[in-house]
Amino acid sequence: MTLPKAIHELEFSHGAMYGPEEEAALLEVLHASAPSCGPKVKEFEERFAAYCGCPYGLAVTSATAGLELAMIGVGAGPGDEVITTPISWISTANAAAARGASLVFADVDPRTLNLDPGDVARKITPRTKAILLVHLFGQPCDMDPLRELAAPRGIRIVEDCAHAPGAEYQGRKTGTLGDIGVFSFHQQKNMTTLGEGGLVTTSDRALYERMLSYRSLCCRTYDPKGKYLPLDAARFPMGRRYWYLDFDDVGYNFRMTDAQAAVGLVQLAKLDGFNARRRELAAEYSRRLCGIPGLTLPYVSPDVKHVFHSYCVQVRDKESFMWAMYTEKRIKVWSHYMPIHLTTAYRNRGHRDGECPVAEEAFRHYVSLPIHPRLTAEAVDYLLTSVRDLA
Ligand SMILES: *Cc1c(COP(=O)(O)O)cnc(C)c1O
Repeated sequence: MTLPKAIHELEFSHGAMYGPEEEAALLEVLHASAPSCGPKVKEFEERFAAYCGCPYGLAVTSATAGLELAMIGVGAGPGDEVITTPISWISTANAAAARGASLVFADVDPRTLNLDPGDVARKITPRTKAILLVHLFGQPCDMDPLRELAAPRGIRIVEDCAHAPGAEYQGRKTGTLGDIGVFSFHQQKNMTTLGEGGLVTTSDRALYERMLSYRSLCCRTYDPKGKYLPLDAARFPMGRRYWYLDFDDVGYNFRMTDAQAAVGLVQLAKLDGFNARRRELAAEYSRRLCGIPGLTLPYVSPDVKHVFHSYCVQVRDKESFMWAMYTEKRIKVWSHYMPIHLTTAYRNRGHRDGECPVAEEAFRHYVSLPIHPRLTAEAVDYLLTSVRDLA
C-alpha cells in the first residue's frame, strides 16, 4: 500500500484553512491591543448577519454558548418541552437541558437524517416551547412543514446552523429560516475563528436584545442621574466617561474577542469559495462512488443548497468498514453522531432505546468521509479508491 503524501489530511475532518489575509488581520488587531468585544466584533456581526440576510448578529464564544443564549431568548425553562433531533452533536440538546427544559427527541427522515416533520407533529404537546432543529451535514431541514406546525401554535424555531453557514432552503440562507440561528466557527466547521467561536442571528429585535444582555452578564449601564442607557451602549461602556453598572439577571460571559472576529471577517469573505470547493468534492465523491452495492450516497433535496460540512454515506456493516478503513488504509472515518438520547448523559435523564427507531437504525450504517477544502487531488483519489475497495 502506498500512502499519499497528504494522508494526514484524511485522518480527521479538520477544515481550518488560513492564509496571509488572516495573518494580516490578526496583526492589525494585536497592534490595537487585541480587545475583547470591540469594533471588529461589531463589524463581524453586521457583515455576517447581512450575509445571511437578517438584521441582527451576536458573536459568541461557541455555538454551544449561542444555543444556550437561543434557549434563553425563546424563554425555554423548567416545565417546557423542546423538540429536537437525536442526530447531532450533544451541544444541541444540552442547550435546552442546561436551562431546565425537557428534551423531546423526534425521529429523522431516513434519507436526509434531518428532523422528520411528521414525527415532530406527533410529539408536539401544549408544553412545547421550541423546535430546535439542525441542518445536518450542511443540508437545510424541510422548513415549510416545520413552520406550518410551529407558527399557529406560537412555537419558536431555533436553527442549529453549525454545519450550514451559506446553505440555502428555497433560495434563503440558513440563520433566517426560523426565529434564531446559531453558527459555529470551531476548527472543524466550514469557516473558523481561531479554533473556537460562534454567532447567533435573528430578525427579532426583542430576541436580539434579550440575548445581547445575557451574553454579557445582563449588565446594564446607567448614567449618574439613574437613567438607563440603551443596551447597545452596554456593549462598549469604556467609551463613556462616567457610568454605573447594574445587573438585570444572572447572565453569562459569552463574548467573542476582536482577534477571533478579525479572522472571522476574512473567513466570511472566503466562505462561498470554501463551500464551492466542498460541493465540488461532494460531486466528485458521488460520481466516483455511485453504483457500489451496499453503499448509499447522500440524498440531496431539490429544495436546498447543501454545503457538505460532512459527506455521509451508509454502509451495510459499519463496524467492519470503519475498522478496515483504519487498519488497512490508515483513514479514520467517523460516525457522526451517536444518537443523543442513547448517550449516558441522556439515558441518565430517562431517555431510552426505541424513542427514535429510524435514527437508531441509521446509526448502524452511517459514516462520514473526510471532506474539506484542504484535501489534495492525491488524497481524494486515495480516499475514493479505498472506499471502493472496502465498501
Ligand atoms: C460543532 C457543533 C455544535 C457546537 O459548536 P461549538 O462551537 O463547538 O460549541 C453544535 N451543533 C452542531 C450540530 C455542531 O456540529
